[in-house]
Amino acid sequence: MQFNSVLDSIKTYEAGKPIELVVREYGIKPDEIVKLASNENPYGCSLHVKDSVSSIVSKMSLYPDDSMYILKESLADSFGVNSSNIVIGAGSDQIIEFAIHAKADKNRPVLMNSVTFAMYEIYAHHVGAPIVRTSSREHDLEQFYTLYTEHNPSIIFICTPNNPTGDALDIDKIVEFLHKIDSDTLVVIDGAYMEYAAKKDSKKAINVKEVIENFENVLYLGTFSKAYGLGGMRVGYGIGSENIINALYKLRPPFNITTLSLQAATVALEDRAFVDESVAKNFEQMSRYEEFANKNSIEFIESYTNFVTLCFKAPQNSSNISQELLKQGMIVRDLHGYGLNAIRVTVGKEQENSRFFELCEKLL
Ligand SMILES: *Cc1c(COP(=O)(O)O)cnc(C)c1O
Repeated sequence: MQFNSVLDSIKTYEAGKPIELVVREYGIKPDEIVKLASNENPYGCSLHVKDSVSSIVSKMSLYPDDSMYILKESLADSFGVNSSNIVIGAGSDQIIEFAIHAKADKNRPVLMNSVTFAMYEIYAHHVGAPIVRTSSREHDLEQFYTLYTEHNPSIIFICTPNNPTGDALDIDKIVEFLHKIDSDTLVVIDGAYMEYAAKKDSKKAINVKEVIENFENVLYLGTFSKAYGLGGMRVGYGIGSENIINALYKLRPPFNITTLSLQAATVALEDRAFVDESVAKNFEQMSRYEEFANKNSIEFIESYTNFVTLCFKAPQNSSNISQELLKQGMIVRDLHGYGLNAIRVTVGKEQENSRFFELCEKLL
């Protein structure tokens, strides 16, 4: 059977290997497997979320509130914007999809960093949009600007902090950049790890209200999958001018998140203490990775997230290292497919990290 030819250019997204697969392939017991591959919160989620979701399980047979009134009000409150500035998605992934389908087409390229979140490219292929990338590993807004003037992109993706490298831009620099971009170019700022970056360094913290008030062409993305620990519930959001949000709404399928997900996200948002504590523990553990890397002369990229990218020098090879780790039940992300001789390791709990150091040291 022939399929839509845009599919020819799409490589299926490879998610972090699930624990079940390692159990089957390597015969390792589930409780001996450590998964540091998908940037999930190792401390789980707020206990209030568990209680609250359990208490509404019987509502499963009813469709969710499609207006998502309570969650949107809570997000609006927390960001100081209006509900009409918000759209909710099944993960912020789905908002990326809406944004690309709403704005991109084959006539203008989509501009992104050389190494960045894979879904931007995949969704751009859906609509046949060409891709233009910068050449530097970390975001360099001067390069972005040069490519913008040369290629007139429909969308510019700024991922800060960036996945899979962990670097983050200063907000001043972003604002300066936004001033130079015309109003018919959509700038998507993906803040999937912003809760981490904002805590580590206030210069990296985006004031979403100010940005979307000053720039009608900016869409900010956030998610409950990372710091809030709700990856399995699939809730993300986009915040932007009503003009943008109304366009995205035309593409949103009805009931795109579940009754339980809505409840989980709403309650999670109230438990700031859980997020703060997770972020604090994350950076405590992150410093152990930095020590480990320094001790073993491994280059690492300073991270503003809950993962760290370790860069190897030949003959050390990231694919071999991640494969050897996998055989011992340690799942990390090889970045070979991104053109880097590097692995991305999610910062786990103390003992998980110790296990990583022990196994990795043996391989070096
Ligand atoms: C994890 C992630 C997302 C989206 O995750 P969802 O689970 O779909 O909300 C978006 N952008 C980046 C950079 C991410 O790392």
